[in-house]
Amino acid sequence: MNEELLKIRHSASHVLATAVLRLFPNAKLDIGPATETGFYYDFDLDHKFTAEDLVAIEAEMKKVISENQRFERTEVDRATATKMIEDMGQTEFKLGRLADVPEGEKITMYRNGEFCDLCAGPHVDYTKRIKAFKLLSIAGAYHRGDENNKQLQPYTVLHLRQRTSLRNILSRWKRQNCAITVNSAKRWDCSR
Ligand SMILES: [Zn+2]
Repeated sequence: MNEELLKIRHSASHVLATAVLRLFPNAKLDIGPATETGFYYDFDLDHKFTAEDLVAIEAEMKKVISENQRFERTEVDRATATKMIEDMGQTEFKLGRLADVPEGEKITMYRNGEFCDLCAGPHVDYTKRIKAFKLLSIAGAYHRGDENNKQLQPYTVLHLRQRTSLRNILSRWKRQNCAITVNSAKRWDCSR
């Protein structure tokens, strides 16, 4: 995948996490990688995300983007990373992810606005670089893909470079009847 696109998509997953934490401060975060079509972030939360939440989160993401937050990289030692994760209230999964970083390897934390995350990067410099995206669906996924682990609620997001391409693909899906229903409101999803 194009390096730049990967960077934008992954940065957008931080924006998604920022927005979710603003609206659901109790959400616990796992990881948020870029994918072939966009990105996702895995969340653990007692509240089951609804279609209305999708709309609210999408609006909050747009706000975070318009705030044009800068992504700041800090290299830290393990004890500092642990402290920063604790301060964010994100020990549940992030401490395990920190333990995955091999001894001797650099540990980096990235901050944008009020949000801080353990991450190897890279990211875009400012949130305004993220343009066209659409929150698509919520489906269950297990922490580390293991069904003995907790089931999380990942947000899957379609990300395209331009708003026009995004509009085109959404209207094509609509024509193909790729409709799914998440609770009461209708959302669009298509893996075809
Ligand atoms: Zn990151």
